[in-house]
Amino acid sequence: MYTKVKTKDEIVAMRTSGSILAQVLAEAKKHIAPGAPTQLLSDVADKEVRALGATPAFRGYQGFPESLCVSVNDEVVHGIPRSNTILEEGDIVSMDFGVTYQGMITDSAISVIVGAADPKDEALLEATQKSLHKGIAQLKDKVRVGDIAHAIQNELDKAGYGIVRELVGHGVGHHVHEEPNIPNYGKAGTGPTLEAGMTIAIEPMATIGDYRVMIDSDGWTVRTRDGSRSAHFEHTVLITKNGAEILTQASA
Ligand code: MG
Ligand code: MG
Repeated sequence: MYTKVKTKDEIVAMRTSGSILAQVLAEAKKHIAPGAPTQLLSDVADKEVRALGATPAFRGYQGFPESLCVSVNDEVVHGIPRSNTILEEGDIVSMDFGVTYQGMITDSAISVIVGAADPKDEALLEATQKSLHKGIAQLKDKVRVGDIAHAIQNELDKAGYGIVRELVGHGVGHHVHEEPNIPNYGKAGTGPTLEAGMTIAIEPMATIGDYRVMIDSDGWTVRTRDGSRSAHFEHTVLITKNGAEILTQASA
């Protein structure tokens, strides 16, 4: 389904959905520490989202078995949290979560370093998050998807990071994934035109090495082929006439 221009009521629901999502990720982040099993983060997220009156959108989505995706180091996205995956000092933990509230879905991800960080990893996270905001800065009525893609690519190319190509951003709202795809690389002035009132998830995934990825034998976990570390940042945003509203951040 192509993403629709949302109604006023749908936008109100998505604002609440996104605000809940931001609170859930903030709560899960508090539990990131050396020795913590990744399962704990998903359990915390599941409990928190339900306490806030919403449901986890990824649990059961295409059969995903958990509430929160937790991907560590060379795992890019869709990592399955496990009680025997234990976080260690210096790990990069990417948490990706979806919230359904009054039928409306938002989607957001953050990467966090456990304890003391290697400056190289810190730089990767910084650039990936910055590229997300460069993409968001392109948004306005009639923006082309290529404008977003190009802005993200430009930022990540500067530092020579690998840009994951097989996974992309997307429309979001009534479904977890709506058309069109929002790639993290591309040419300005190309691609579909987006309108004010549409809601999309922008989600750059970058690696310190090569961009190529593979899927684990668990059928879910996407990891870099060369074993290099990766980062992932994502926001659900509402396109407005002259800009954008980030829906998945804590309300002021
Ligand atoms: Mg996501
Ligand atoms: Mg997404």
